[in-house]
Amino acid sequence: MVSYKELGLVNTREMFAKAVKGGYAIPAFNFNNMEQLQAIIMAAAETKSPVILQVSKGARNYANSTLLRYMAEGAVAYAKELGWEHPQICLHLDHGDSFELCKDCVDMGFSSVMIDASSLPYEENIALSKKVADYAHQYDVTVEAELGVLAGVEDEVSSEESHYTRPEEVIDFSTRTGCDSLAISVGTSHGAYKFKPEQCTRDPKTGRLVPPPLAFDVLHEIEKKLPGFPIVLHGSSSVPQEYVDMCNQYGGNLPNAVGIPEEQLREAAKSAVCKINIDSDSRLAMTGAIRKYLAENPSHFDPRQYLKPAREEMKKMYIHKIVNVLGSNGKAE
Ligand SMILES: [Zn+2]
Repeated sequence: MVSYKELGLVNTREMFAKAVKGGYAIPAFNFNNMEQLQAIIMAAAETKSPVILQVSKGARNYANSTLLRYMAEGAVAYAKELGWEHPQICLHLDHGDSFELCKDCVDMGFSSVMIDASSLPYEENIALSKKVADYAHQYDVTVEAELGVLAGVEDEVSSEESHYTRPEEVIDFSTRTGCDSLAISVGTSHGAYKFKPEQCTRDPKTGRLVPPPLAFDVLHEIEKKLPGFPIVLHGSSSVPQEYVDMCNQYGGNLPNAVGIPEEQLREAAKSAVCKINIDSDSRLAMTGAIRKYLAENPSHFDPRQYLKPAREEMKKMYIHKIVNVLGSNGKAE
């Protein structure tokens, strides 16, 4: 048993309370490898933004769960080395799908876990989320639960059918589970293809897809039911056109990739939404930069040569999100 407190990590309780009050949101960035982690920590340290490092089940399978945990521990030391005196870094399990997985993460030093039982019937979702919350709270680990179903694919989590969170259920759900934050479904979805072209309109000038707006009425209804309660948005990459173009220009094939417009995320960040999950944008920035580099330098084969610009591009993207979309810069001096 390792406590996250020994690793210098923090849970989400205080950062969420401040974010809800301050009208901004904490970035939750997924990582699977060293370059992503470096870019996240460099961006957070440079902007003095609290940050949530997210590890999904897929990331644990890809990179090894023990190694990832030590990398996060190293991230705290690295942040200090970069001159961030009091780093506020949370290590969070993204989409935990069983009690055992959540318990394993609590026991190995995670400061926050998500139990995603949103695909189960309502009462079963409550029972499993409560079981995780009861266990995690013994160690002061915070718990995110989910109500409502998001469309799209994220690692092993995928769903064809989505439905919005029902505002009439949120009080009962949060009270009975004891969760610390609630992931809701209001029109975001996982992956880089968040909407089918037939769900979108086209910008007559650029010919690009314009996605349908988020269900802000549902979000505000939920906010009214749970004043001040931390709300989480999953699947909130904006799928920047410049990275999609970069991928496509240098040999990629990502037709009709579309995300959530940043102005809508900016609006959400001002509400009770205090955690915004961004994963696909990092994947796109990295892949775009690597494709471009390798296309322009066909004789290079040292991974450091193409991973360095990829890391730079991710860092630039993370800083942009922190400063221009979430507004969390300067909140962890
Ligand atoms: Zn998610």
